[in-house]
Amino acid sequence: MPAQFDINELHWLLDIVQSIDVGVVVMDRDYRIEVWNSFMENHSGIGSDEAARKSLFELFPEIEPNWFKKKVETAVMLGTRAFTIWEQRPNLVHFKSYQPITGLADEMYQNVTILPLRSTSSITDHVCLIIYDVTGVAINKRQLESANTQLRELALRDGLTGLLNRRYWEECLEREFARHMRYQSPGSLVMFDIDHFKRFNDTYGHQLGDEVIREVARITKQLARETDFAGRYGGEEFVVLLPDTAIEGAMQFAERLRHAVARLNIDHMDEVLKVTVSLGVTELHEGMTTHQELIEVADKALYQSKEKGRNCTTQAEAP
Ligand code: GH3
Ligand code: MG
Ligand code: MG
Repeated sequence: MPAQFDINELHWLLDIVQSIDVGVVVMDRDYRIEVWNSFMENHSGIGSDEAARKSLFELFPEIEPNWFKKKVETAVMLGTRAFTIWEQRPNLVHFKSYQPITGLADEMYQNVTILPLRSTSSITDHVCLIIYDVTGVAINKRQLESANTQLRELALRDGLTGLLNRRYWEECLEREFARHMRYQSPGSLVMFDIDHFKRFNDTYGHQLGDEVIREVARITKQLARETDFAGRYGGEEFVVLLPDTAIEGAMQFAERLRHAVARLNIDHMDEVLKVTVSLGVTELHEGMTTHQELIEVADKALYQSKEKGRNCTTQAEAP
């Protein structure tokens, strides 16, 4: 402060402190309030007369004294500023947020600067808190993060069915295959295809065909476990990788799936239509060297089911 600091300048400064859109609090070394600007009044509902001489911890019980005192004392000792940022701690004091978008932030997000204040005799006898409302920034960042998560999720899934798309499913298979090789854990693959689907499309139209694909996918998701990887491999061809499942379990799953699809009723005008699927099932074997081999074996078993007359499950022969 200039030596010839006069009372007029003090008035300006107070005016500025009052009108800026950040919280300004000055406390003595016992954390008792000495300055409390209008931002603080407006957001806390506590007038400056009421706040004066009160302890910060009394006014804001949400501030954890041990943590906060340690932070302030360190700043005072070093004579440097300290900060709290919203990414680490959403706020220091609980103020309501007045963001127009409700539901995203009920409380104000804050960045806070802790500023040790030295008197003319060079002793730090006060501490200033500057509280910034960063709710807008925080909401934008949160929204962006959630949009990115959704996008990432969308990129991995098939648009029609919500099952894993082929590319991502193959990545999962490759990973699981490697895990199996390392830990000798069991694992099985079920591959299936809707029977005479071309005929179905030609007779009832592509749109109803799409509906059938969606329904088959829904049943698949319903029957699969959380840890299984269900994917749409082609147009009307599906795959389910069952980690930690031996062939017996995989055959049971396949048969449950086959029966559930056969029970499905597809309403079309006054008719109730039916579809069936043919399945091929294989287990991971020691002798397999690549994940493609697993697909080939399952595909061959699926082809055998078609040969046998469809609506059945074939277990691949052990090598
Ligand atoms: P099979 O019992 O031997 O499997 O006979 P299929 O007619 O099902 O076999 P094919 O592979 O010859 O025909 C598959 C048909 O599936 C061809 C195509 O019209 C239809 N299809 C593929 N993708 C879609 C899709 O996304 N939507 C619809 N509606 N049909 C599809
Ligand atoms: Mg088919
Ligand atoms: Mg097919």
